[in-house]
Amino acid sequence: MRGDFLSRLPLAQSAVDYDVERRSEEGLIDRLLDDPVTRVMLVHEGLVAVSKQAAGRVPVALDCVADPAAPRPDAEPPAETMTLALLAARDLRDAARCRGCLFIYLGIDRACAPAVPYLALDITRALDAQLQGGMGADSELDAQQPPLFQRLLAAYEWVELRSFAPCASVRDAGLATSAVAVSMWHHSQRYCPACGSPVRPALAGWAQTCTNPEDADRLLFPRIEPAVITSIIDGRERIVLQHNTAWRDRFYSVSAGFVEAGESLEHAVRREAMEEVGIPLGEVHYLGSQAWPFPSSVMLGFTARAVSDEIRVDHEEVAAARWFSRDELARAVETGEVMLPGRASIARHLIEHWYGGPLG
Ligand SMILES: [Zn+2]
Repeated sequence: MRGDFLSRLPLAQSAVDYDVERRSEEGLIDRLLDDPVTRVMLVHEGLVAVSKQAAGRVPVALDCVADPAAPRPDAEPPAETMTLALLAARDLRDAARCRGCLFIYLGIDRACAPAVPYLALDITRALDAQLQGGMGADSELDAQQPPLFQRLLAAYEWVELRSFAPCASVRDAGLATSAVAVSMWHHSQRYCPACGSPVRPALAGWAQTCTNPEDADRLLFPRIEPAVITSIIDGRERIVLQHNTAWRDRFYSVSAGFVEAGESLEHAVRREAMEEVGIPLGEVHYLGSQAWPFPSSVMLGFTARAVSDEIRVDHEEVAAARWFSRDELARAVETGEVMLPGRASIARHLIEHWYGGPLG
């Protein structure tokens, strides 16, 4: 059952070999850009580029809220599968010399002949530099290239990962998840946490090094914030769903929260259940995980048995919580009394895992 659960998580997909051993090769990005087979996907401010041919069918980027675990409505699904805009690497050869360009080597698809290497190009900072009129340009090229990133921005539709992944192929969902997660980290960490000097990308985008010569050996890796999320089931096979004060009206989801420093995952599951719905837990089982790069989490999904069905909420973080049988939840979703988290979320999959199929 676990494999089945994982196979449906939109942000836990992968069809390419990460090809980790090549990341440390000197000049790898340049060589991949010269390779006519290499394909490049684009990222801008955490959004991924899809073809404009899908215009009108592309789900609108949904408004973001401060709490990354907050349930969000599903975007209007597109009429057909969404595909990443994939550019020939050689068309972007010059971009590699522009200030602010971030390339990430995502890996290689060995199922193709010849095998296809994939890069991500994050244009966010390069575009900012260009819009500032090339001031402080590192090279003549910056001044000669002004329209490039504006052209790229205008040429594609830009879609949020949460809207894209549930409608994408396994390959595209995996590429987009890696690209967004790694690029979000580069945006959030621009200075060395040890000495405060600026950092530069290393290991084909998967790490950073410090630019301070005295600290040049320091390799910096992304900090991932683990969060646990748990479907709590009672002895009558009901699930408890909660509505938090910060959430939109009628949204209900399962218990979730960040793992604290020095805490085990299982302890975090039990602590969050007590804090949020006042329910002590019996058996706790791990089901699966997926990246949640909004901006830097991984969500670890559990299911647990409630020892008591008595609910106690604090009315500060959690406004209400209630038990649902399968029939009750199906009816509540159908009538619109209850809205569930979007299809990209592990919360939705935990609820549907308990329900035994798709809901709504
Ligand atoms: Zn440093």
